[in-house]
Amino acid sequence: MLNKKVVTRFAPSPTGFMHVGNVRAALYEWLWARKNNGIFILRIEDTDQKREVEGSVEHIVECLKWLGLDYDAGPDKCEPGMCYTQSERLEIYKKYAKILIEKGYAYPDPYTVEELENFRKKAEEEKRPFLYREHRPDNFGTWDGIKALRFKTPEIKSYQWHDAVFGDLSAGPEMLDDFVLIKSDGYPTYNFAHIVDDIEMNINVVMRGQEYIASTPKYLSVYQALGFEPPLYACLPHIMATGGNKKLGKRDGAKDVLDYKKEGYLPDAMVNFLAFLGWNPGGDKEIYTRKELIEAFDLSRIQVSGAQMNLEKLDWMNKEHIKLLSKEEIEKNILEWLPEDMRNSKLVSVILERISKWSDVRDMAQSGELDLFFKAPEIDKVKLVYKNSTAEKTFENLQAVIKALENIDENNFTVEKIKEILMDLANKAESRGEVLHPVRYALSGLDKSPDPFIIASILGKNETLSRLQKVM
Ligand code: GLU
Repeated sequence: MLNKKVVTRFAPSPTGFMHVGNVRAALYEWLWARKNNGIFILRIEDTDQKREVEGSVEHIVECLKWLGLDYDAGPDKCEPGMCYTQSERLEIYKKYAKILIEKGYAYPDPYTVEELENFRKKAEEEKRPFLYREHRPDNFGTWDGIKALRFKTPEIKSYQWHDAVFGDLSAGPEMLDDFVLIKSDGYPTYNFAHIVDDIEMNINVVMRGQEYIASTPKYLSVYQALGFEPPLYACLPHIMATGGNKKLGKRDGAKDVLDYKKEGYLPDAMVNFLAFLGWNPGGDKEIYTRKELIEAFDLSRIQVSGAQMNLEKLDWMNKEHIKLLSKEEIEKNILEWLPEDMRNSKLVSVILERISKWSDVRDMAQSGELDLFFKAPEIDKVKLVYKNSTAEKTFENLQAVIKALENIDENNFTVEKIKEILMDLANKAESRGEVLHPVRYALSGLDKSPDPFIIASILGKNETLSRLQKVM
């Protein structure tokens, strides 16, 4: 196995949007392929036509593109004669079905739906599990290609196998049954099609949710019947809702991954976050670039216990990844997320401190938090006075501030200069708040706001003086 080129695949069914669980599997497969200079394939598993949702394939491709999980082969990237969409591979499944028939490992299902239902009911009444193989007919006719085709389990035995995450596993004969290979609509079942494809596409590592562990003996029995080596399985732990007691469902935030794109999360942060949902490289470092993730990723460090979805952590990681961007990129994004009439690059640092994702910029603007930079606030003169100070003192201090600021050259009206002047006056007062509070309030109309020096520098000399003079 180790001597072979690693070939992984992401095999989603186009049945709706992609959530973090799907995408995490894609990411792990991609990381493993990239780490080993291997191949990562995208395969569309659309054999359950009833469940198909229009637009899902485009959605899957867009998700992978956004996250930068480039695939070496896929429905829109294939060499001549190859195809990665199951509904276009029906002949291949038929070919393998015929091989199984020839080997005596497949037979047409002779029963009607009602007959099967009766077998099932009877088993239920007798409180025993329903096993189709107990009703396997002694003689089967030839398959007409119309009836469902069933697998004839070669040996009813226990299976042992090694899972790269869950370790050595085993399951008894009760897990084996004669399942459907090809349905009466001509389409193969997932159970059959994915094995044929994994064989044909030389897949040697399969990562998917831990819910597939229970069916693994069935898959192993098909590999045995066909005479092929199964791939290395690496089942992934469930993703749990915040709190950790139940599996993440739609109600607990299992949403469309592209919604995170719309909210302005960085793809690199999302990749970092998803990588840590069920895996960690050990140590304290949590912010990883894509390149670092590829280097550090290892199947042996995927955890067995459920991974908890924690949106606060995602926000924190995103903020950390924003800090890795260049000044220009940060400015460009912040300005783009602001309404046009608020696009002032002086606001960038104030905004940057308060956001963890780009949509927070839009929300700040919508909430009115930035209004103070665009129009003079309503002022209640009583509120200008700091704690036990007096109105008289307050005006005296403000007068001194105005005078000092008037002396600063307009081109030198910087945070540092304003701070130097204001702090000089504040340090001379009985308490600093006596000077700083009325300035802050006069400029912003708020008790809590960004530093008054910052506000003043953003407003500029004229507007700052005009607001201060207005309250006198
Ligand atoms: N089509 C299956 C799904 O979407 C894929 C499972 C697998 O990776 O084998 O769940």
